[in-house]
Amino acid sequence: MTSLSPHKKAKALKPSSRRPAKELCSECGLCDTYYIHYVKQACAFINQQIDKLEEQTHTRARNFDNSDELYFGVHQDMMAARKKEPVPGAQWTGIVSTIAIEMLNRGIVEGVVCVQNTKEDRFQPMPIIARTPEEILAARVNKPTLSPNLSVLQQVEKSGMKRLLVIGVGCQIQALRAVEKQLGLEKLYVLGTPCVDNVNRAGLQKFLETTSKSPDTVVHYEFMQDFRVHFKHEDGSTETVPFFGLKTNKLKDVFAPSCMSCFDYVNSLADLVVGYMGAPFGWQWIMVRNETGQQMLDLVTDQLETGPVMSKGDRTAAVQQSIPAYDKGVTLPMWAAKLMGVVIEKIGPKGLEYARFSIDSHFTRNYLYVKRNHPEKLDAHVPGFAKRIVEQYKLPE
Ligand code: FAD
Ligand code: SF4
Repeated sequence: MTSLSPHKKAKALKPSSRRPAKELCSECGLCDTYYIHYVKQACAFINQQIDKLEEQTHTRARNFDNSDELYFGVHQDMMAARKKEPVPGAQWTGIVSTIAIEMLNRGIVEGVVCVQNTKEDRFQPMPIIARTPEEILAARVNKPTLSPNLSVLQQVEKSGMKRLLVIGVGCQIQALRAVEKQLGLEKLYVLGTPCVDNVNRAGLQKFLETTSKSPDTVVHYEFMQDFRVHFKHEDGSTETVPFFGLKTNKLKDVFAPSCMSCFDYVNSLADLVVGYMGAPFGWQWIMVRNETGQQMLDLVTDQLETGPVMSKGDRTAAVQQSIPAYDKGVTLPMWAAKLMGVVIEKIGPKGLEYARFSIDSHFTRNYLYVKRNHPEKLDAHVPGFAKRIVEQYKLPE
């Protein structure tokens, strides 16, 4: 008689039950499966262990003395890229969906964990294991809401699948890496995106209503490298709102507590990361973290236009100024916000320096949040690389 893996005796939590990470839960989905058995080690908000998992995944630790690694994590290559023929309706040019489709079509994986939306609500996440290119395509575009991607993991083990691709954001991938060896897979591939400032569905509604002129017709949005939020509407029109014009006082509580205490913006544990913020405007930003990531990228290079990453400007003064402004909830009048947007776009940080600007402003804000709301967690929860980054700035008490 074969003995049952210990997790198979565990019971998933009911949707209404309070999660072990309490208010810090990012609804990653692990606790919706019997892998809840491992939650105390695996949850990104109970047991931050990026350093250990980086070594496990990439076979070496992040080099803090190399500025690019300190900020962007372990990587062997980095580039700007865009699809020669963009995928219609994708968040950017659809590099993520294209890699997933190639991996499935070529039989490299048998299934892809990704997130579609429900029929009723384009922003309500619905994680699935896609087994056809059509199902992957239907998951394109960001669901800018906390998404329980790992809730489908139990189905993976039950289906007997041996080669799997998981697409996800940092907190999901941290928990996934912690239980990776329990999934019964021969090979796990991880395609990550950066992630920041996520919200629950109610929070998203408040953000849209506070910021967009037509909240009900927004199809997708992005905080872009030109220091503006770009909203795309159903009729194809684009609305832009300068970052400095956001109603910070009303939006302070909108972001999920998990995202206010997250330091894995760049998805340190994925094999390959596809974002945008380190690339010139209109381009995507690719980080190859290890050999598996390189193999994934190789599948689509003939469909991509690629270029080098660049870095221009100096972010530090802008970050230092943003710290008390956010803390006090300062909102500029729209004319001043627009003017500031134009000036900063002309002389402000670009390329990798823009990415560092975004990382610095979020890490300093999040460090203060954890210090004030969960002081007992501060030391263990903030990874070493984030402490180094935050130390560069003067923070209010
Ligand atoms: P597509 O081909 O459109 O595919 C998108 C994929 O994302 C789909 O496969 C889908 O399964 C997955 N997905 C959608 N929503 C979620 C979710 N909530 N959780 C997990 N997976 C999801 N990049 C940056 O450089 N800087 C940022 O600040 C940044 N913030 C982000 C915030 C959020 C909430 C998300 C989900 C992504 C963010 N990204 C950020 C990544 C970026 O917006 C694009 O997703 C990425 O560049 C891929 O674009 P694409 O056109 O290749 O993706
Ligand atoms: Fe469970 Fe994930 Fe929430 Fe942690 S973040 S408590 S692992 S659902």
